[in-house]
Amino acid sequence: MISDAHCHFFSTAFFSTLSRQRAKGDTVQQLCSELQWEDPGSPEALADRWVAELDANGVRRAAVIASVPGDEQSVATASTRHADRLVGFFMLDPAANDAVDRTRHAIEDLGLRGLCLFPAMHHVPLTDSRVQQVVEIAAARPGTAVFVHCGVLSVGVRRKLGLPSKFDLRLGDPLGVARLALAYPGLPFVIPHFGAGMFREALMAADTCPNIHLDTSSSNNWIRYTPGLTLESVFRTAISVVGARRLLFGTDSSFFPRGWQRGLYDSQKTALTAGGVPAADQDLIFGGNFDRIFAA
Ligand SMILES: [Zn+2]
Repeated sequence: MISDAHCHFFSTAFFSTLSRQRAKGDTVQQLCSELQWEDPGSPEALADRWVAELDANGVRRAAVIASVPGDEQSVATASTRHADRLVGFFMLDPAANDAVDRTRHAIEDLGLRGLCLFPAMHHVPLTDSRVQQVVEIAAARPGTAVFVHCGVLSVGVRRKLGLPSKFDLRLGDPLGVARLALAYPGLPFVIPHFGAGMFREALMAADTCPNIHLDTSSSNNWIRYTPGLTLESVFRTAISVVGARRLLFGTDSSFFPRGWQRGLYDSQKTALTAGGVPAADQDLIFGGNFDRIFAA
C-alpha cells in the first residue's frame, strides 16, 4: 500500500492569506476561479475530498501540510476527521512572536505530527535559537518529525497570483539540518525533494545523521542542474548512501481538480523498477517508512 509523505492542504484559510498578501480584496472564490482551481470549502469538505482522491488512487495514508503559517486548525480538523488516513503537518515561521506557543498548541493539543520549516522563505537561519526552541518541542513528542525545505524553492501558486517570493536560498542548506539532527538524535528529520538541487549536501547530511530522511516528492526538476543526472541514478545513489529505509515517497500534490499526482508515482515506480530495486525496498519507500515514523 502507498503512503504519500508530501501533500499540501490548500484550505480556505490558505487562500484567504494569499488574498490578504495580494491586497486586491479578492474573495477566496474569486481567487480560486482565477486559478481555475476548486474552491476548497470547509476543512471537513476538503478533508473528505482528499480521502476520496486517495481511495480512487489506492493510497492508504497521506501527510497533508498546512501551507501558510497560522493554518494549523484546518489540517487538525482534517487529520482528526480521518485519523487513519491523513497525518497533519504545519508550516511554521520561527520569527513569529507566537511561534513557540503555536508549535506547542499544534503538536500537543492538535496532534499535528510534522513541523515544517522553510528557512529560505522565512529568512530564519537554522542556527537561530528561535528554530532550536520549536524543534525542541517536536523532539519532546515521539511520533513527530521536523521537515526542512532545502535547496531551490518556488511556490507555483504565488507565481500564478503575481505574489513576490523573496526567498533567500542560502538559508536552505541540508548541512544546517545535519547540525540540528545531531543535537536531537531521536527526532526524525525530513529533507524534501532529495534536497531540491542540493542532493550532494542532503546525502552528506543524511550519511552523517541516521535520523535524517529524504522525501522523493515533486517533479524533481532540480535534476536538470546536474548534467547527466536521471531519476533512476538519483534513486540508486540515494539508496546506496542512506538506504531504502530513509527514503519517503511523496508527490507534492496540492490543488483540485488536478488532485493526487499519479504520474509522479508512476515515474518513480518505473525508475525504481528499472534500477532493479527489490520489492521489499520499494515497499519501504512507498509506505513502510512513512508508517514506521508516523505510526497510526
Ligand atoms: Zn511541497
